[in-house]
Amino acid sequence: MVSRQIADRGIADARLLAALRAVPREHFVPPHLRRFAYEDGPLPIAAGQTISQPYIVALMIEAAALAPDDRVLEIGTGSGYAAAVMSRLAAEIFTIERHAVLAGDARRRLAQLGYANVAVRLGDGTRGWPEAAPFDAVIVAAGGPEVPDTLRRQLRVDGRLVMPVGRRRSRQDLVRVRCRGENDFAEDVLGCVSFVPLIGAEGWPEKASKQDDDGDQACSVLE
Ligand code: SAH
Repeated sequence: MVSRQIADRGIADARLLAALRAVPREHFVPPHLRRFAYEDGPLPIAAGQTISQPYIVALMIEAAALAPDDRVLEIGTGSGYAAAVMSRLAAEIFTIERHAVLAGDARRRLAQLGYANVAVRLGDGTRGWPEAAPFDAVIVAAGGPEVPDTLRRQLRVDGRLVMPVGRRRSRQDLVRVRCRGENDFAEDVLGCVSFVPLIGAEGWPEKASKQDDDGDQACSVLE
């Protein structure tokens, strides 16, 4: 999977490819879906959520340019897979999940597999993790209407934030924000993606309105 689906599609960072090869994805998917663990696609997990497609995980981590001493905030722990990959590339990972069942499973799984530098918190990640801020990198694994201001402000100078942003709940641009100084942020768009919604104070409301997904147009989704 890593050679064919990830390296051949342009992910070149050797440390990242090694981390992807080292993390056993079959432990992060539901038992009845294990035979699909090394196909490069998203898979359903508990609470109606998904474990992200490995290529997209790689793309986001590469865009965040993680260094060995970095402290990283992830919003949307899900299965814990991306946190496990990042734990091999950075010093400390702080990850927040809003569903108790997912946060609990991920915490247990990461501990069992020995990823000791990952802290899992249950809550609304759009509020960030103020006591642990500032972060060298923030990865948001769910799509919101805009980049939460709270998360921007938890970046240190030179910090990078990568997040899917879009006006509809299910289709987004993958956006990278760099903090250049106080109130000075640069943004670029990496491509079109489809993530589950970011639900929270600075995300979408819990209940979808009927129009939210109307008029969905084709785009070159990174799949
Ligand atoms: N990184 C995960 C994929 C996560 S899917 C993995 O590797 O498996 C996105 C996750 O974001 C879902 O589990 C969803 O419940 C969670 N989420 C959505 N809004 C959130 C919020 N405001 N705070 C924390 N988690 C949130």
